[in-house]
Amino acid sequence: MVPPHHRMTSSSSLKNNYDAIVIGSGLGGLTCAKRLADAGHQVLLLEQHFQLGGLATWFKRGNHIFDVSLHGFPYGMVKTCRKYWGRTIQNSIVQLKNIVFDNPQFSLTTTFSKDDFIRLLQERFGVSEAVVREFFTTIEGMNFYDDQRLRTRDLFARFFPGRSDIHRLLLEPISYANGSTLDEPAITYGIVFSNFMNRGVFTFEGGTDRLIALMEHELRQQGVDIRTSTRVKRIVLEKGQAKGVEVSGTHSGFIPARAVISNAGIVNTVDNLVGQAAFTPDFRDRFAGVRINNSSCQVYFGIRKGESIPDIGDLLFTSTEKEFTSEALRDMRTKSRTFSIYYPKIRPQAPPDYTIVASMNANYDDWAGLDSQEYAEEKEQMVERCLCDLERYLPGVRSKIDVIESATPRTFKRYTLHRKGSSFGTKFEGLDISRSLHKEAPGVFHVGSVGIIMSGWLGAINYGVIVANDVDGWLREESAV
Ligand SMILES: Cc1cc2nc3c(=O)[nH]c(=O)nc-3n(C[C@H](O)[C@H](O)[C@H](O)COP(=O)(O)OP(=O)(O)OC[C@H]3O[C@@H](n4cnc5c(N)ncnc54)[C@H](O)[C@@H]3O)c2cc1C
Repeated sequence: MVPPHHRMTSSSSLKNNYDAIVIGSGLGGLTCAKRLADAGHQVLLLEQHFQLGGLATWFKRGNHIFDVSLHGFPYGMVKTCRKYWGRTIQNSIVQLKNIVFDNPQFSLTTTFSKDDFIRLLQERFGVSEAVVREFFTTIEGMNFYDDQRLRTRDLFARFFPGRSDIHRLLLEPISYANGSTLDEPAITYGIVFSNFMNRGVFTFEGGTDRLIALMEHELRQQGVDIRTSTRVKRIVLEKGQAKGVEVSGTHSGFIPARAVISNAGIVNTVDNLVGQAAFTPDFRDRFAGVRINNSSCQVYFGIRKGESIPDIGDLLFTSTEKEFTSEALRDMRTKSRTFSIYYPKIRPQAPPDYTIVASMNANYDDWAGLDSQEYAEEKEQMVERCLCDLERYLPGVRSKIDVIESATPRTFKRYTLHRKGSSFGTKFEGLDISRSLHKEAPGVFHVGSVGIIMSGWLGAINYGVIVANDVDGWLREESAV
């Protein structure tokens, strides 16, 4: 039996001997908590929001359920979920077969798989088979330990010089997936693009609400204590080592634990939860160089019950911008957006529901300084731009819509507390900070979107497994001492 979605904080008392406290219930935090419980540790999971899932979230308006970050993930989720979350979750992963690109440079439909891209690059873009194959061999061979000075820009220039159309085909979807620009280390592009090229784009049948309910059920089965609406104010150290956390909300006070794993974003973890004073000057210098990734805007449309829309594809990368640039993609009044179309098949057990989510990359600073009237006006204009754009694909859809909602970088900050409402953690350099946290403050770990490659649903879950292994090793060593 899967428990109801909106389970609130239980009133049962907390234990006083947790091995590990996980701060935050994003996919990284949830997975880390699960793996630690599987390894036999006593785990407490604390979430400041009333709902688990972090950015893997959903909300209800009118008769509709809107998914926030369920637009697509790579096939790797199948194996990862089977190994770490079990068959029920694995079996609900299904492919999205119709991915549409529509911009002034090209319009095409693809499965977003390697075979299809090899075909498209040859047939539509006129690239020789030898070059296409060498490009794929190169990116598939990339790994974390490669030269990190090569930029994505250089990689594209080497294989497809002067071909801004091909650069757009290859980079635009990845920019939506993790905020990548041409200036990121090419390995981050290679790793993420190869993941998608494995077999295409996948989604979760039953929606985000069902996934998170199943994950919560698994955690409770493993004995993980979960408290929502409980915000961690501080990670408490003693002689530089983790001793527990101080919380506010329903369970305010100090909770001891031998290890603390923060899913609360690496910059907030270092600055607010631990405090920079706890770190060496060298660490602080490296930390000062960490760049936060961009945020997002979204507009959500619900189609009135009883109405329907034709199948126009599952995921549409649309733009009226002449050429792709990262700046134009994040611009407040961008002409580029994705449309995720949720047909009733996504929640086959529920009454038929059609929803559409327009997603845009965004700069937090563009939205942060607006007063309330400017903010309301900008939001309204954004909704109208999305609606006009949508009507290009679904003429007359306006009259079928009964619910419209929108989100900006301020919304993402408010619900997750992430600095500048970051959608994908930090740029590449954040990974080193995340990985070296526990060397500076023993017993303190970070998990969650960071360094581009460890972000997105698959990245966050996989990183949850990696960090849980580190924590498990540390707890065992510490017990031995
Ligand atoms: C608009 C949008 C669309 C996206 N689309 C996709 C997609 O289609 N496919 C994909 O793979 N990825 C997508 N992503 C990215 C993906 O959702 C994230 O990378 C992933 O869900 C992040 O997981 P995480 O573990 O980093 O934690 P997060 O989801 O960032 O969660 C962190 C949690 O910590 C909690 N927290 C913070 N501070 C505290 C505190 N002090 N005390 C207690 N709790 C705290 C927060 O409330 C939150 O629940 C999208 C993201 C956005 C914003």
